[in-house]
Amino acid sequence: MGNGRQMPRGRQLWLVPTGGQAGRHLVADVAVRAPTRHTQAFAVPDEWRDAVRPGATVRVPYGRGQRIVEGLCLRVTEQAWDSTRLPIVGVQPGPPWLSEQLVELALWVSDYYLCPPWKTLAAFLPAGLRKARPRVATYVRATGAAPSGSLTARQVLLLTTLGDQEMRRADVLARAGVSAATLRGLCRRGLVECRTRAEPAPVPSALLPAAATGGAASPEDAYELTPGQEAAVRQVCAAGEQRDAFRVFVLFGVPGSGKTEVYVRAMRDAIRRGRQVVLLIPEIALATQIVDRLARRFQRVVVLHSQLPPRVRRATLAAIAAGAVDVVIGTRSAVFAPCPKLGLIVVDEEQEGSFKNLAAPYYHARDVAIKRGQLERVPVLLGSATPALETWYNVQHRSHFQLIHLPERVPGASLPTVQLAQRGSPDVEPACGVLGPELRAAVAETLDAGQQAILLYNRRGYAVFLRCTRCGLIVRCERCGAHLVYHRVEHVLKCHRCAVRTPPPAHCLDSTCDGRLGQMGLAIQRLEEDLRALFPQARLLRLDSDTMRRREDYQTALGRFESGEADILLGTQMVAKGLDFPRVRLAGVVEADAALSLPDFRAAEKVFQLIVQVVGRAGRREGPSLAIVQTRERPPAVIAHALRLDYETFAAQELELRRRFSFSPAVRMVRLLLADRRPYRARDEAERLAAVLRERAGRAHARLRVDSPEPCVIRRRGELLRYQILIRGPQGARIQEFLDSAGRDKELAPRVQRFTIDVDPVDWL
Ligand code: ADP
Ligand code: ZN
Repeated sequence: MGNGRQMPRGRQLWLVPTGGQAGRHLVADVAVRAPTRHTQAFAVPDEWRDAVRPGATVRVPYGRGQRIVEGLCLRVTEQAWDSTRLPIVGVQPGPPWLSEQLVELALWVSDYYLCPPWKTLAAFLPAGLRKARPRVATYVRATGAAPSGSLTARQVLLLTTLGDQEMRRADVLARAGVSAATLRGLCRRGLVECRTRAEPAPVPSALLPAAATGGAASPEDAYELTPGQEAAVRQVCAAGEQRDAFRVFVLFGVPGSGKTEVYVRAMRDAIRRGRQVVLLIPEIALATQIVDRLARRFQRVVVLHSQLPPRVRRATLAAIAAGAVDVVIGTRSAVFAPCPKLGLIVVDEEQEGSFKNLAAPYYHARDVAIKRGQLERVPVLLGSATPALETWYNVQHRSHFQLIHLPERVPGASLPTVQLAQRGSPDVEPACGVLGPELRAAVAETLDAGQQAILLYNRRGYAVFLRCTRCGLIVRCERCGAHLVYHRVEHVLKCHRCAVRTPPPAHCLDSTCDGRLGQMGLAIQRLEEDLRALFPQARLLRLDSDTMRRREDYQTALGRFESGEADILLGTQMVAKGLDFPRVRLAGVVEADAALSLPDFRAAEKVFQLIVQVVGRAGRREGPSLAIVQTRERPPAVIAHALRLDYETFAAQELELRRRFSFSPAVRMVRLLLADRRPYRARDEAERLAAVLRERAGRAHARLRVDSPEPCVIRRRGELLRYQILIRGPQGARIQEFLDSAGRDKELAPRVQRFTIDVDPVDWL
């Protein structure tokens, strides 16, 4: 540990806290870096009483061997002297802003998502924040005690240099010209004392360049709110006035109903009351447009996202903690923003899957936001045109959820003409291309009119083929020349024309190249090829993670599209979100139904969301616009509901299905995932675990169900073979408690390379 000063090992020493008043001493609750689900208490040596604060990284003896491990201090209390309590043996002060409330929230996350407290805290206090503390210093001061016995010349020199002031350790050693051993000798005799302290970091004044210019009058300020918006703002503000302001408002509004304006006005009201606001947005590199537009409406606003360099992130968090910021806009981890006077949390597009963290702790930022609102007694505002079914269910079943419906679009916003199209017979697929006749004609018309088109395909659910990352050669069928489709589940290449099956080659088939093979979505490739063949003069811009690596790439690309440098924008569903291009006349979804065949119980919900999004995006201001939803096969009911923007009918039917087949939100779900490189290990361990759990589940709760283990849809990820066990139970079944108590049984621990527990899983593959 950086300036780590370690106490000598040896048990006797640990039993005696250095200094401290007899009878009472400080005790730190520490989340130890170990796979334990509980925090541990340690004695705080007196010399570190200033440094050991919530957020500080400490070193503590842990376990039977009393190995020294790292830990995070969560809280410090004064307690009765306890001779068995081991002391902290090293400290590195951490960010000063880890408040009691944040600790409580983190411990809730740890309990709910069954993730050790250390791991949970490490997720929102990443090492960069925890450790690279700007300034830490140890100070030395004479205690004034009379020396018993004689002093060495060096010791006298040090004491004289020190006088009665407090000095930095390094300074006093340098000035007196003595060694650290001299100092230690004095410490031992109680003649001087050392304290390690964090020096406060300066709070940066202008964090976001836009923030400085923000708050200027915007034309949107002059909008006269629709009656729906008005009522929505009134409700949220009224709650904010209450002492116990905790409510969950679900702002359910068709696209173009002006939800953003409701957020802005409710946020301003909270700021007026002297409070801070957190606005969570989905993790999309493309959200810059929304963010800029929103940020400009406030004065002291910062943006937190996963790609901030640690230095900036640290400074930003310090500013938030100092109360120098009114509005925090950010992606999922911003739910832990250290606001000391939180007044409102807004979650935009609350249905978005990207609010779910895909590593332990597998937390869902929307749900953490709700918990935080409850702990801090502040209102939470969830906005969506297509609420997650979990949220819809809560609206119907929980009294603290309140629905606010915005059924109408704001004046001037028009819906596009919506058209359903079919790609053509699936049997003649290879020949007819990705674009069906309607979509083809609409693209041609748009280009003729000198306007722009956005074409979306759903990334998932498509065939994947292998392409050389060096020369671009695609792996084709040796017999018929068609692209071979890669099937992850079986890890095999198949020809969909002549039914050849072959194991995937390791390298490019061109032996002179021998490059590494990468996977690529077939549809986007085909779509691009088709468009180039059909409209050679059109300027195409493709936006996906194959072509865009960094946030800036997206921004440049979108800037180019906005300024008219491209005619057609191709992209995944992500493109549909939050973009507003006035010259776009056509928005098309290619193969809207492809994702329906995915083995994911949320498939229909996702397709519904995509379509509503597209329809919403296309219906913008100037001139008539057109949305075409193309399906591969006869459109299923979900698409018909979506085209009519009839969420309620869809939700009712879908909830019925979830009930019938026992899926969330009708039941609570936990997914256990076991992965191992050895061929049968994950499966065997999954079977063993499931058998024991099933037996215990019967005792824990009558309706707790442990499914038989199955291979994951993506059976192999990297080297690992993956199996899952699904546990489901009614709302009151306390699955976490059940798993927690099972987890204490060491015998049960699966002997696999990776074992993860995902509570309320979103990722289904
Ligand atoms: P949503 O998020 O509900 O789809 P937005 O918040 O994006 O809708 O609003 C759609 C458009 O309507 C935006 O351009 C916004 O500036 C505008 N708008 C919002 N409220 C009003 C209003 N009361 N009167 C006129 N225009 C409005
Ligand atoms: Zn073939």
